Amino acid sequence: MPGNKAVVYEGPGRVQVEETEYPEFEVKDGPGVNPANIGRKVQHGAIVKAIATNICGSDQHMVRGRTTAPAGLILGHEITGEVVETGRDVEFIKVGDLVSVPFNIACGRCRNCKEGKTGVCENVNPERAGSAYGYVDMGGWVGGQAQYVLVPYADWNLLKFPDRDRAMEKILDLAMLADIFPTGYHGCVTAGVGTGSTVYIAGAGPVGLAAAASAFLLGAAVVIVGDLNKDRLAQARSFGCETVDVSVGEPKDQIEQILGTPEVDCAVDAVGFEARGHGEEARREHPATVLNTLMDVTRAGGALGIPGLYVTGDPGGVDEAAKHGSLSIRIGLGWAKSHSFTTGQCPIMRYNRQLMMAILHDRVQIAKAVHATTIPLEDAPRGYEDFDHGAARKYVLDPHGMLPKAA
Ligand code: NAD
Ligand code: ZN
Ligand code: ZN
Repeated sequence: MPGNKAVVYEGPGRVQVEETEYPEFEVKDGPGVNPANIGRKVQHGAIVKAIATNICGSDQHMVRGRTTAPAGLILGHEITGEVVETGRDVEFIKVGDLVSVPFNIACGRCRNCKEGKTGVCENVNPERAGSAYGYVDMGGWVGGQAQYVLVPYADWNLLKFPDRDRAMEKILDLAMLADIFPTGYHGCVTAGVGTGSTVYIAGAGPVGLAAAASAFLLGAAVVIVGDLNKDRLAQARSFGCETVDVSVGEPKDQIEQILGTPEVDCAVDAVGFEARGHGEEARREHPATVLNTLMDVTRAGGALGIPGLYVTGDPGGVDEAAKHGSLSIRIGLGWAKSHSFTTGQCPIMRYNRQLMMAILHDRVQIAKAVHATTIPLEDAPRGYEDFDHGAARKYVLDPHGMLPKAA
């Protein structure tokens, strides 16, 4: 049996690469594993050799100690790889298939899965609807920043790439299908982005940049990206976005300078609860800032896509209310403007096939837009640190030395 090196969360600010157990077709006890999931048989699963496995802003919330993630949790939910073993009940996925693994774990059998809401599957997490690999409160499925990972309900969850050689040519782009590309796209779709739209995207991290690339793919006329990180804003400009520096002041004024009007048609929150304030307040955390700003800058009747993550428990919250996920949101303004809001995990499966086709047929260069950067699995601690310091890069771990160096 091969070894299985993996990235392990050790406590706030600390991750480490360790030798861990090779997956079996059963859920074992371990840090963060829900007791009701222990011993669960997974003969419907496949073991995937991870060719590319990315570090995400969602992992950072845990590694910064801003969630209740337990030490010892094996991280990683953005997995692309090769099927090396299938369970007894897998019918269609075959050993040797190159696949993208949607970060949501879904059963394909519950009411929500049948309705396409795979981000809130009811059968994979005993605690609440919705699950993911290597994530706090998500049932305890082992993470895939590793050499090998178990994928449950393989026939349902896995997206098979049609051609192996073509897939390896585009592997850094295809690696974004597990999460950020569909997530950014979902943010735009739910914000109503279409031909000729004007769009404000808060956040120039990988999700914000993926949303910006998606907005262009959907036909937006003007895509404005806001952040306080100058390198990330420059990255947004590199593929045609306008930018707003929120540390200078309210986005509204800068949006007016760009568009001649202070409002946009559509807005996307690609920041979440660790948001900074604007202007002078950019030095401090203001968890409701982005939501309130988006209501302010979106035209009446418009919509807000909110992929940015908000939690139910935050040990580092700015006040007592924030520690329980209660934020000071100006809902009266959103109501007065008849805004629609879409929150939650992106249901990856709704978009990953279409976006795969756009990648394979050169309609989009997502790896370039997010500045995908390959590093060895052993260097994960450095990747986490650089990403935490705001590097304008999307780090892709390379557990088997199979990836090209850069997009
Ligand atoms: P990231 O931390 O790299 O990027 C967030 C960016 O927001 C940073 O560059 C930061 O400087 C910027 N920022 C902070 N305050 C701001 C403000 N007031 N206005 C504008 N920008 C501001 O994270 P990421 O990987 O790009 O992910 C973004 C968010 O999306 C995270 O909350 C992540 O958990 C979430 N996410 C959600 C889903 C989903 O399915 N819904 C999937 C993936 C990621
Ligand atoms: Zn992610
Ligand atoms: Zn389900």
